[in-house]
Amino acid sequence: MRYPIGFTMAQAAHRHKMERSGLKRYPTVVMLEPLYTCNLACLGCSVERHTGKLKDRMSLETCFKAVEECGAPIVNICGGEPTLYPELAQLVAGLTERGKYIILCTNALKLEEKLLSVIPPTDNLFLMIHLDGMRQTHDYVCNRKGVFDHAVEMIKKARDLGFYTYINTTVFKETSVEEVEDMCKLVNELRANGILISPGYEYESVQSDVFLSKEQIHEKFKAIREFAPKYKVNATPMFLEFAAGMRELPCAPWSTVNYTPKGWKAPCYLVEGEGYYDEWTRFWEDTNWEYWESRLDSRCQNCKMHSGFEHSAVEESMKTIKGTLQLAAWTLSK
Ligand code: SF4
Repeated sequence: MRYPIGFTMAQAAHRHKMERSGLKRYPTVVMLEPLYTCNLACLGCSVERHTGKLKDRMSLETCFKAVEECGAPIVNICGGEPTLYPELAQLVAGLTERGKYIILCTNALKLEEKLLSVIPPTDNLFLMIHLDGMRQTHDYVCNRKGVFDHAVEMIKKARDLGFYTYINTTVFKETSVEEVEDMCKLVNELRANGILISPGYEYESVQSDVFLSKEQIHEKFKAIREFAPKYKVNATPMFLEFAAGMRELPCAPWSTVNYTPKGWKAPCYLVEGEGYYDEWTRFWEDTNWEYWESRLDSRCQNCKMHSGFEHSAVEESMKTIKGTLQLAAWTLSK
């Protein structure tokens, strides 16, 4: 299966429960950023996400309160670099006790010391290791030599120990389609569980010429879509059609909410179009979701992020029998 059965079933059960309650909008994932401190300063990362002071990190209580209030079954711990969060082991333990599925996004520099040798592998913990290309590209993006080799070593170690381990790749302007396919082959060589491929898109507070225009996203993802079925690519078929410019989808920013050291970010991980909220209820009720779903905002024009569109891709797939069968076949394959 594309993802472990428990993870897939938890999402299906959550969807069923929300729909039975009559809710049109509900969060499935919370992107929890307990700190804005990082040991790298990668191209494509917003300055605030790697320059924060460790002393300004969230407390464990603040993290648990945010997760409980939003009710999402999946917690994506990102930031900042989560392995620098001193209370990481307690955070993972507390989320596990609360029945959450945890995706831990990391550059893997401190993975062994802070996680692999401290926390045992479980069915509800997924490591998502940042790898933006093969050696030359990734070390360039991370602005440090040796990061690629270290990440590869950590993927092997994590798999040997029994951790579910995925690769997270952003495709930039200079990334060739051949290199993306090499990354997919690397997933097989390393016995990793899959690869999440996202188009690099110039979002608020990040100015760089490494990002793709909408036309470039379409061109690259048309080619990626061709070879994706041969590999463990963790993007639904409908999302890949969207990324390749073959169909339009509304955004669903409420499906993946973002809690940061500054509060709930509205509307999404990428854009602070409506600022930050201290309280969940105000964030949820006051954000103009209808506006952000429409993608009329200039900052949304080129966006093709999984966090905004995978929910819509699944919804769209389930509108027809053909789409539902295609989605089921994709879920059960690889
Ligand atoms: S399209 Fe959606 S995910 Fe992308 S920037 Fe706009 S609101 Fe955020």
